[in-house]
Amino acid sequence: MGFTRKNPTPPASQNAVCPKCGHARDGALDSLQTDSGEEVHKDDCTICAKCDAILIFQSDLTMVEMTQDEFDGLPADNQEALRHVQELNRKYSPFYSPSS
Ligand SMILES: [Zn+2]
Repeated sequence: MGFTRKNPTPPASQNAVCPKCGHARDGALDSLQTDSGEEVHKDDCTICAKCDAILIFQSDLTMVEMTQDEFDGLPADNQEALRHVQELNRKYSPFYSPSS
């Protein structure tokens, strides 16, 4: 859990799919990992462009949804960064379509 990049893993498959809504990541809004232009690594976070879920990459680069407890355990700066990306997602993602 976290935002470290100490253990690089191979580039994420472009077929990574949101576990919540099934939306396929297409690179339109890759959020946090684009700050330095690096590839996606285990434990990197992203926001689903469609349902706004906070997703965490696993070692095999599939994604799982972050739980509320996990979110609450993040440093305040990271929580704020994720909320900011969600806000941008709601405003600008052409895919944004929350189901709940
Ligand atoms: Zn989704």
